[in-house]
Amino acid sequence: MSLFTAGKPALPRVVVLTPTSTRSRRSISSSTLNSKPKTPRVEVRSSSTTTSATLPASEIKPAPEALTATPPALSVLPTPVLLRSLLIATISSKPYLLLPSLSALSFLCKPRSGPLLNVDRNPILHSILKATFYKQFCAGETHDEVRRTVRQLSDMGFQGTIMTYAKETVFDAKTKTQVGLGIEDVKDGAQNAEFCAQIEAWRKGTVETIDLLGNEDYLALKLTGAGPSVTSAFNTGSLPPPQMLSALDEIASKCAARGVRILVDAESHHFLSGILRVTLDLMRKFNKDGHARIYNTYQAYLKSTPATIASHLQAASDEGFTLGLKLVRGAYIASDERSLIHDTKADTDNAYNGIAQGALRQELGAFGKDKPFPSVNLFLASHNKDSVMGAHALHQQRVKDNLPTVPVGFGQLHGMSDEVSFSLLALKSEDKGEPKVYKCSTWGGLGECLAYLLRRAIENRDAVGRTGDEFRALKGEVARRVRGVLGLRR
Ligand SMILES: Cc1cc2nc3c(=O)[nH]c(=O)nc-3n(C[C@H](O)[C@H](O)[C@H](O)COP(=O)(O)OP(=O)(O)OC[C@H]3O[C@@H](n4cnc5c(N)ncnc54)[C@H](O)[C@@H]3O)c2cc1C
Repeated sequence: MSLFTAGKPALPRVVVLTPTSTRSRRSISSSTLNSKPKTPRVEVRSSSTTTSATLPASEIKPAPEALTATPPALSVLPTPVLLRSLLIATISSKPYLLLPSLSALSFLCKPRSGPLLNVDRNPILHSILKATFYKQFCAGETHDEVRRTVRQLSDMGFQGTIMTYAKETVFDAKTKTQVGLGIEDVKDGAQNAEFCAQIEAWRKGTVETIDLLGNEDYLALKLTGAGPSVTSAFNTGSLPPPQMLSALDEIASKCAARGVRILVDAESHHFLSGILRVTLDLMRKFNKDGHARIYNTYQAYLKSTPATIASHLQAASDEGFTLGLKLVRGAYIASDERSLIHDTKADTDNAYNGIAQGALRQELGAFGKDKPFPSVNLFLASHNKDSVMGAHALHQQRVKDNLPTVPVGFGQLHGMSDEVSFSLLALKSEDKGEPKVYKCSTWGGLGECLAYLLRRAIENRDAVGRTGDEFRALKGEVARRVRGVLGLRR
């Protein structure tokens, strides 16, 4: 079966990881915020004992000496971050704590005018949420807070940050209603056919975001954050108003000048064809020099995604631009039309791994076989350890064997799956370089970010196995540090 269909993809051959240095990472303190910690050097090579049989990435094991020499992946986390992560993981992994927290967050998300239940007006509510959920998953409410978070992530060894401005619109397929999150109502008179105040507010917030980023960073765009005039165009698959198109052109030009790349998020399916169309047009204009400055996001859970990617590969091939292919599983399963999404989690996993590994082999559907494979830059956004470790191992193997492949970056959300992110970062190899790993964060006022926080909580509820693993890994790291403080063997 083709890798481009939802069949079970072949996973890469096993590799053995051998440390060439026992130098451990430094733990981070405020005094070390300006220098990058050194990751332990790890040589990646093919096992001489492997056959052509394939093994899942989860079975890729470090060589015995690595087990004693390599510091635990979470040793890089500063202690306050570790303790907050443990608190959130404890809540996320225990249904009796998570379900009431979810109900409370969902209740607070509803727009209210009274000060008592408004998170931006009630200082006690604000400080509790800010110190816990907000700080775990979001970058900051002010420019200074955001800059501090970006610097801290860089000091932990990440290649850069992916930053999103919190406004968005979510469409619920069950109730056929849409909710604008962080999008203010516009007073009569502030809106006319030529000028939309909501597009202007989104443009301004997005341009401010670019100013917070450097040339290793990505800007993530949620186009529905620009409000109803844009979403009603997307509803019908047509182009948004000229004011939005010119804002996008300004944003893309500004990012190109600063060396910042743009990941355009995939959102509710209701708006998706409009988002994909606008982004493809931006790629046509800005991805002409052999690199992707702009990426579309493809949701592997959608049954239609292979056909979408095939048509975008064709456009890239015919028109000579680089396709920026950011791959996610998909985050709108709770609100999107269920029949559009693969029937089982296993089908979504196979679709994800098939597309990722097909792109890395430069073989997707007919591309790479009957037709030439166009220029593609891949970005794998996932917390699934098998998917990201498997993709990284395949990429390394192809580089080593001098086989064609595509450049690849990896991203996890800020505050989630740190164990996956740091395990990836530790797979640094002398000759083939380290995997490029990014953390994706959101900035904006607490009220603006509530819906984003609610989605993270829902995601944690649905990923029972992963949150349990995260909880155990964080608890183990806290115990290791306590033993260290008490002078016991770590
Ligand atoms: C950096 C980053 C950027 C992201 N950007 C976007 C974006 O632009 N748009 C977007 O939609 N999402 C985005 N996401 C979220 C992403 O789509 C997933 O929801 C999230 O990452 C969980 O999937 P996973 O690959 O990490 O792994 P897992 O935890 O292994 O997979 C969970 C996912 O599997 C799928 N799934 C679960 N149950 C079923 C089922 N019964 N049937 C079919 N499928 C099922 C769902 O997609 C679910 O989210 C982003 C994630 C990251 C890390």
